[in-house]
Amino acid sequence: MTAEENNYRHILLATDFGNHAESIGTRATAMAKQHGARLSLIHVVDYVPTDLPGDLIELPQLKIEDHLVESARERLEEFASLINADYTNLWIEIGSTRHEILRIAEEEDVDLIVLGSHGRSGLALLLGSTANGVLHGAPCDVLAVRVTESSTQDP
Ligand code: AMP
Repeated sequence: MTAEENNYRHILLATDFGNHAESIGTRATAMAKQHGARLSLIHVVDYVPTDLPGDLIELPQLKIEDHLVESARERLEEFASLINADYTNLWIEIGSTRHEILRIAEEEDVDLIVLGSHGRSGLALLLGSTANGVLHGAPCDVLAVRVTESSTQDP
């Protein structure tokens, strides 16, 4: 096998915009450059209808989803420019985070998923539930970038 055949061709970066997102993202952009790979970004909106800001509560379900997807898209675009991502696609999905990351990875022929070892909900020293779920269901390699509390930056 040549060195080129060992290169990743399509990397999917999953971000929750949490405290560690920038350092995880810059790892993904560096890897994409090193490998000459395409880079796609995904954010999953995991919204709970009972947990909405006051100004959205009155809107019909579909409008709420449109609004959440639109604001997540703007946030993901800003995030992509923050980490200097030369991206192919931005994916904003609604649903189960693990399920949506795995579905896009499969459908888009991704060969490496990059995420944090934990995000906003993970416990120090343990793999968070998203990282764990993705690792166990992935159709491809997974890079769980280790984040530690000392690398925490407040937004
Ligand atoms: P967690 O397991 O929830 O602690 O998160 C681990 C990693 O999964 C985070 O650092 C992100 O890379 C990714 N992740 C968590 N939540 C989301 C989300 N809603 N959308 C995309 N990626 C996510």
